[in-house]
Amino acid sequence: MSAEQANIGVVGLAVMGSNLARNLASREGNTVAVFNRTWEKTETLISEHPEAGFIAAKSYEEFAASLSAPRTAIIMVKAGRGTDAVIDELVKVFEPGDIIVDGGNALFTDTIRREKAVRETGINFVGAGISGGEEGALNGPSIMPGGSAEAWETLGPILKSIAAVAEGEPCVTHVGTDGAGHFVKMIHNGIEYADMQLIAEAYDLIRRGTGKSPAEIADIFAEWNTGELESYLIEITAEVLRQVDAETGKPLVDVILDQAGAKGTGAWTVQTALDLGIPVSGIAEAVFARSLSSKPAQRAAAADLPGPSDSWTVDDPEQFVSDVQKALYASKIIAYSQGFDEIVAGAEQYGWDIQKGEIAKIWRGGCIIRARFLNRITEAYAEDPGLVALVTAPFFRDAVAEAQDAWRRVVATAAHAGIPSPAFSSSLSYYDGLRADRLPAALVQGQRDFFGAHTYRRIDKEGTFHTLWSGDR
Ligand code: NAP
Repeated sequence: MSAEQANIGVVGLAVMGSNLARNLASREGNTVAVFNRTWEKTETLISEHPEAGFIAAKSYEEFAASLSAPRTAIIMVKAGRGTDAVIDELVKVFEPGDIIVDGGNALFTDTIRREKAVRETGINFVGAGISGGEEGALNGPSIMPGGSAEAWETLGPILKSIAAVAEGEPCVTHVGTDGAGHFVKMIHNGIEYADMQLIAEAYDLIRRGTGKSPAEIADIFAEWNTGELESYLIEITAEVLRQVDAETGKPLVDVILDQAGAKGTGAWTVQTALDLGIPVSGIAEAVFARSLSSKPAQRAAAADLPGPSDSWTVDDPEQFVSDVQKALYASKIIAYSQGFDEIVAGAEQYGWDIQKGEIAKIWRGGCIIRARFLNRITEAYAEDPGLVALVTAPFFRDAVAEAQDAWRRVVATAAHAGIPSPAFSSSLSYYDGLRADRLPAALVQGQRDFFGAHTYRRIDKEGTFHTLWSGDR
């Protein structure tokens, strides 16, 4: 490599791209070429970080010329049309064998489409999910690359060098071909939605159930973070609850408008699950809970709808907090079980060989859902790679068995008290549905056959059947 050439490039120098470029530059042996559509961003980055030794390009041609072969470039631009625009330009200046990586939050079906189109030029295209926000990009994200095995050979060592490290292992693995990486990143985000909603419900129940202050609840979360619930999200929840608003002196959580935003990856997870026929009820309720929160006009109109007529108090606050902790743990197991079901179904639908245990491993560091618990998922799939539902693995079965009485008490209490607990209660319903000996689906089949002659199968013989209902004419 000449002194003028870089072994890796980054296109798109907003917060994620700049931080990823700095992360890359800080690793031994890397020289990083950088390009941004608007030159000012490039100028700012190179002047603020001379230590990174970036090779700054003013055009795509200059960018390509500054990279040694095979050229490898990571795109970190606004997902959607921005990504397509950059790919169109890179394809013009790159050569067969080069590698274009999209590190943005692309929809996996877009990645499948782009991979197919770029592959026709002989250039490799890799859709790589990158999790961990701006801090992860700078210090080590969890990376979920798809694409070809050939591209992974060149890209693997580079991505391993910048990824987060958990228990001595880099948080990156070749997830599967074409859109597999972005698919798994989408599921990661869906699980993140569920995890956040479950934590929020736990907080709400404890606050309204026991009257504890946000600071007191922060202590509870900090305590939970020393046990089986230990995770980044529980840790930051304690910090958020402890924060006091400088202006009013109130807990900050009481000053923040209670309308949750969303960028769409949770909705993608649910839409895809609907297409695949996979019940991801915990994730769906989390997405819907954000939607409900963001309907101020409806909420105002409904504010005087009646709540429970009986007054309700928690007799034993300590017991209640312990119950909520168990309900949270059991519901979290369900959310992950459902998320992994969607991974299995997606892999089957799109022909990806996804190693579930490896996915749990690369989520242990760098990303938002990093948690102690993920080791148990890796172990469960190591013990039984054909596990049909994560919740049925011995460790999780025992954990839910231990938690379920408390979980039922919490959901019943929430219903009595009129405290919304969509993710807690839908997860419990899913659990009871999954373990049911017999479901009322038999009645639904009867109804379908009645009005639409859709036929049904019987428990006692093979074949499909239609009944001449009295409604038949
Ligand atoms: P962003 O605000 O999503 O995008 C801004 C960048 O995109 C700028 O560099 C902009 O260039 C470039 N861009 C937009 N349209 C373009 C076009 N048509 N041609 C060329 N460049 C174009 O930036 P970000 O927050 O750093 O995120 C980058 C990617 O990472 C996104 O896909 C995002 O979803 C993903 N991501 C973000 C996070 C996060 O926490 N922010 C976490 C994980 C993944 P100009 O400067 O010229 O406008």
